[in-house]
Amino acid sequence: MDAREQLRRYLEQRRELGETELALDGLTVEDALRILGARAGAQPAIQPTIPSAAPSARRVTETATAPEVTDWRRALREAGASPDDMPAKKTTGGASNDATTPLATAAESTARASSRIDDIPSGLSVGTPAGELFGGEFGALRTLEELAAHVASCTRCPLYSTATNPVPGEGSSNADFMCVGEAPGATEDETGRPFVGAAGQLLTKILAAIELRREDVYICNVLKHRPPGNRNPRPEEVTACSPYLIRQIELIRPKVILALGTFAAQTLLDTKLSIGKLRTQIHRYYGVPLIVTYHPAALLRNPSWKRPAWEDVKLARRILDHGPPTIAGA
Ligand code: URA
Repeated sequence: MDAREQLRRYLEQRRELGETELALDGLTVEDALRILGARAGAQPAIQPTIPSAAPSARRVTETATAPEVTDWRRALREAGASPDDMPAKKTTGGASNDATTPLATAAESTARASSRIDDIPSGLSVGTPAGELFGGEFGALRTLEELAAHVASCTRCPLYSTATNPVPGEGSSNADFMCVGEAPGATEDETGRPFVGAAGQLLTKILAAIELRREDVYICNVLKHRPPGNRNPRPEEVTACSPYLIRQIELIRPKVILALGTFAAQTLLDTKLSIGKLRTQIHRYYGVPLIVTYHPAALLRNPSWKRPAWEDVKLARRILDHGPPTIAGA
């Protein structure tokens, strides 16, 4: 595939996610450079900068890999792209990743992001603030594997009898980012894996757009067995299954939870408020910041929601990078 075609496909993917500005956060540096005309294959990290009158794509590539800046953003900007809107890469310490944000100092980029976060209103708070255990019926389950085994033999509600496979959840037990959906659908039921059907593929793209790989996050649902015919979960099923979700969150202790869709949001936040009212706020679930967004399946049906959903996931990403705002009086 030539560079133009790659760029076209990339832009189409971004547009599909509701984005109107060019942000190159879904690409690896190598991808981005290849799009700009670099040879396939990784360039050595240290390359001499070849002087050139006009910034050709080739020149841009070498500048981008030059040791003084390692600045592929500048390279892309010189090539006419505008990568400044992209979220910072994941960091573990809560500070911005300046290796990839050479145009802003650490202080600048941290301040910019945290001032935005400080503008986001606090929402609902469920449970006690961070530090306290949730308790719950499955407190004795020590690992996610033990929990999955428990789910596999669960008969707490009748859904086990109609499901093909249990779908406890998957991903890293050290995940800082956790996605919670509603319940397994047909493909998830067949495979025993969450979010692997059409909605799941969109979720994977959304995660990639904020520089998260599926395997680095934890993905699960409120219900661990499929309701027949994808009917809505029943209150008694939610009551029976919720202790598993609570224990998963307790074991993982993510830095941020992304609640996908009305059902997950209302269940976790113990509210009947609509998703429209729950979005654009930072809720807390036992101290863990929780962001609400549209379910990927809803985005497939209503593409006009992709843009607001993109804002939601960018907010979740910012919380991951910079931490939530401090709660007054906490
Ligand atoms: N929808 C969900 O809520 N969860 C899945 O795992 C798949 C589709």
